[in-house]
Amino acid sequence: STSPHVVLNDDNTIPQLGFGTWQVDADVAQESVAAALETGYRHIDTAAAYGNEDGVGRAIAESGVSREEIFVTTKLWNEDQGYDAALAAFDKSLERLGTDYVDLYLIHWPCPAKGLYRDSWKALVELRNSGRARSIGVSNFPAPLLEELVATGEAPAVNQIELHPYFPQVDLRAANASRGVLTEAWSPLGQGGELLTDPVVTEIAEEAGATPAQTVLAWHLAIGNVVFPKSVTPDRIRENWGALDVVLDEEQLERLTGLGRDNGRLGGDPAQVN
Ligand code: NAD
Repeated sequence: STSPHVVLNDDNTIPQLGFGTWQVDADVAQESVAAALETGYRHIDTAAAYGNEDGVGRAIAESGVSREEIFVTTKLWNEDQGYDAALAAFDKSLERLGTDYVDLYLIHWPCPAKGLYRDSWKALVELRNSGRARSIGVSNFPAPLLEELVATGEAPAVNQIELHPYFPQVDLRAANASRGVLTEAWSPLGQGGELLTDPVVTEIAEEAGATPAQTVLAWHLAIGNVVFPKSVTPDRIRENWGALDVVLDEEQLERLTGLGRDNGRLGGDPAQVN
């Protein structure tokens, strides 16, 4: 099967189901990305901060799949924020990836206390204009900071945010959508924790004849999120790809969204991360 594609506000398209690589060293990233490409995934999410861009690049180079068929995202790390620093960091990411362009380059965190995200954004706009980053976007941006960038006339193509049924981000998803910014959901499986044994998830999984992970991923796909679940296990990499065949009805989608918790966040708070 192939993933559906979503059209970005710059008219580029992105495969809706991709593959994540956080907390995986370069050698393991190489193996798991190779397994993902073999399975059919054509969208890989990495970051300078993950320390595995070289492994991701090797897997792509050795896959036999042409570079043009693979959507590659990487991200600007916090300590490289600022106009000149961002341009230099981007060059290093390309070098490690062994490619002459990325499909999507993101500001990893806004780091509001640093106050450099506007300068970083100018660098990303320049990279996009040069064609070396085909699309540009942000990650972990709350609505007011996103709005600031939109107001420059150069709207981010995506906002990649923590999002899963325990933290469904209903307001920020709507804020993204109202500005034409696509929502990408990170930690879509809730990092493989409690969520996958939640009684509501397992019950809907049984109804749908799917696994809990497939059920959660099918929820993301149905509500329009772009996702890139991470696994280093070939069986799970294939299982997660099987989410493409799982259909949930409105009532099941609402039950999953209803799992949202006041404090469902697993990762850092964007207001605090610097
Ligand atoms: P995830 O929600 O994708 O969960 C991954 C974990 O779930 C795995 O380590 C494994 O333990 C488990 N798992 C995977 N498939 C499973 C299956 N079929 N059955 C049972 N358990 C399974 O978590 P994640 O890695 O944090 O998020 C996905 C990707 O999002 C990352 O790899 C990374 O690319 C991106 N990300 C971005 C940011 C950001 O700040 N922009 C932050 C975190 C993650």
